[in-house]
Amino acid sequence: MIKIEKREMPIERIRNIGIMAHIDAGKTTTTERILFYSGRIHKMGEVHEGTATMDYMQQEQERGITIVSAATTCEWKNNRINIIDTPGHVDFTVEVERSLRVLDGAVAIFCSVGGVQPQTETVWRQARKYNVPCICFINKIDRLGGDFYKSVGEIKNKLGAKPVILQLPIGQESDFKGVVDIVLEKAYIWHEDDLGAETFIIDIPEEFSDSVAKAREELFEMVLDYDEELMNDYLEGALIDSGRLKNVIRIAVLKNAVTPVFCGSALKNKGIQPLLDAIIDYLPDPSQVGAAIGINPKKEEKIFRQVSDDEPFSALVFKIQSDPFVGRLAYTRVYSGSLSAGTVAFNPRKRKRERIGKILTMHANSRTETNSLHAGDIVALVGLKETQTGDTLCREDKQIVYEGMQFPEPVMHISIEPRTKGDADKLESVLDRLTDEDPTFRVRNEEESGQKIISGMGELHLDIIVDRMKRDYKVDVRVGKPQVSYRETITKRVDRTESVCDRQFGGGSQYGHVVLDLIPLEKGHGLVFENKLSENQLLPEFVSAVESAVRDASSAGIIAGYPIFDMKVVLSGGSMRREDSCEAAYKITAAQAFFEALKKAEPTLLEPIMQIEILVPDEYLGEIMNDFNSRRGKIENMHIRGDLKEIVGKVPLSNMFGYSTELRNRSQGRGTFSMQFDSFERVPETVFEKL
Ligand code: GDP
Ligand code: MG
Repeated sequence: MIKIEKREMPIERIRNIGIMAHIDAGKTTTTERILFYSGRIHKMGEVHEGTATMDYMQQEQERGITIVSAATTCEWKNNRINIIDTPGHVDFTVEVERSLRVLDGAVAIFCSVGGVQPQTETVWRQARKYNVPCICFINKIDRLGGDFYKSVGEIKNKLGAKPVILQLPIGQESDFKGVVDIVLEKAYIWHEDDLGAETFIIDIPEEFSDSVAKAREELFEMVLDYDEELMNDYLEGALIDSGRLKNVIRIAVLKNAVTPVFCGSALKNKGIQPLLDAIIDYLPDPSQVGAAIGINPKKEEKIFRQVSDDEPFSALVFKIQSDPFVGRLAYTRVYSGSLSAGTVAFNPRKRKRERIGKILTMHANSRTETNSLHAGDIVALVGLKETQTGDTLCREDKQIVYEGMQFPEPVMHISIEPRTKGDADKLESVLDRLTDEDPTFRVRNEEESGQKIISGMGELHLDIIVDRMKRDYKVDVRVGKPQVSYRETITKRVDRTESVCDRQFGGGSQYGHVVLDLIPLEKGHGLVFENKLSENQLLPEFVSAVESAVRDASSAGIIAGYPIFDMKVVLSGGSMRREDSCEAAYKITAAQAFFEALKKAEPTLLEPIMQIEILVPDEYLGEIMNDFNSRRGKIENMHIRGDLKEIVGKVPLSNMFGYSTELRNRSQGRGTFSMQFDSFERVPETVFEKL
């Protein structure tokens, strides 16, 4: 037996956190500073210079955005912080979702000018869904038009959170110098010349006495309920020391009852060290978020696993990445137990044993090998062959399955064709790798043209994939025009479409007979198959043949070959003959009945509708709104954001190709927008005819 090494870091000293934000709020810059101050990197990189450590993929550096959630580990005052850098761009919400699934706490970053932007609301809702305790960092206090209190107000009103102010900014815009700490009743100042490396602790400046008193009063009001003894002491006027106060804040944060607010300027190197302290002080360690809940795959019953080394090993793989040096990396969150490198884990979904070759602790651009993994860790495993994103690993004699992850369906596709013979040879295996890494990326072969169709979550998503093929794998492809991925559905119920197959075939005869009903379903129901026949009427293998034929047939509808959704197919009648019924005959009959019924069911097209936010200076508002209306856009809301106006609305994806260029042209480069998939809606009559 291989000895498992003792854990290096006690579980109370581990934090698994995510950093979430609207694009451009400063997530990458903040992460970069965290790595710098914690000694993980020795030179600060800047996003705008394309040298940020976390944005290590070339495409990210060029585009200045964060695409891949790279897990990185750093140490702060003898604690280990595992950070998952979640991307802000909407095409990659799936990355956000999957990181939130494995984190214990989050830091939400806001821009002091932009405040709570609609996309932050989306990410916030995702965090709520997984009950992740959060702290807020209001960044860019140095920016013109920044407003700390307004941002706090928006956190309360727009996100419905209960913000509790634990810091106040000293000075604003170019005068921003440091922060006042409400808990310790001290102030911190940083200087530019040492890149803020040293924190100078001073007394709270005079002019803050009122605002600090007010903030402390609010703080006590919000947290005292969580510690009776403290409440009594406070009411009796006793001095409350900062240790006890921190403790009760922590309790309230873990209950998701309050959200502490901090502030600073990542770019100007102010406010980062206290933010690191806050991560340790207020966010939970892995054992404090409650037991991990999974399913026993053999009995379909719930299993609770305490996050502890004393429990049997279990872990969730949350990301697969192919790495040029070590091959296939499986980013894994360990929930319970421990394991050493070189041993075997079990994947219950695949029913496969997987040998864990190496265990790596990942930093943004380097890694260290360790001998063992323990409850609460986030590590990358090398050597797993079949395990995919969302799979559980566990002990074979103590099986458990954690809930996997749901990924949205792609909304856009393009055709690709290899440029040379060499490219063609490599293409298949490269596409396999890319689909392995990214569950929202799909590939299919189009039989008529012999082309490959790749689909994903948006133009940028597909752009980056094609780019990666070229750069990382040296495969060059010609790409077609991006196309919207429509869906088909039916609008009318059609009962009892009958089909019989009774034919002579190779000297014998084949018989099949089915009756199908098609029923339209509400949005979001996919394709449902229901069998109403007993085994005496139709043997189960014939029923399965019918179901598989129906599912096959519905993958390409009769309007334009798009998959059919939101429809129920009922097998309501049929018969068999003992002597010559066979599966092949039921497949043929089912497909016939299905297509015949489909023609009568008044099929129609569904198109992807996007949620969009556009930010423009006032003087371009009219122009941009006119243009937006002409794209079948529906405006839902308008807000004022500093000196900008924000339009929030919905618009069909099909009318948004090349919008970023268009917006830039119409606003002298000053407008920005972000967009994400909202829902599939029926295509209006007039547009349908054109298609
Ligand atoms: P992300 O998209 O959330 O990762 O944001 P980035 O970290 O890439 O930052 C977006 C832009 O804002 C970059 O140009 C940064 O240099 C800039 N930025 C980040 N933090 C600050 C800050 O505190 N103050 C100011 N003025 N700019 C900042
Ligand atoms: Mg970034």
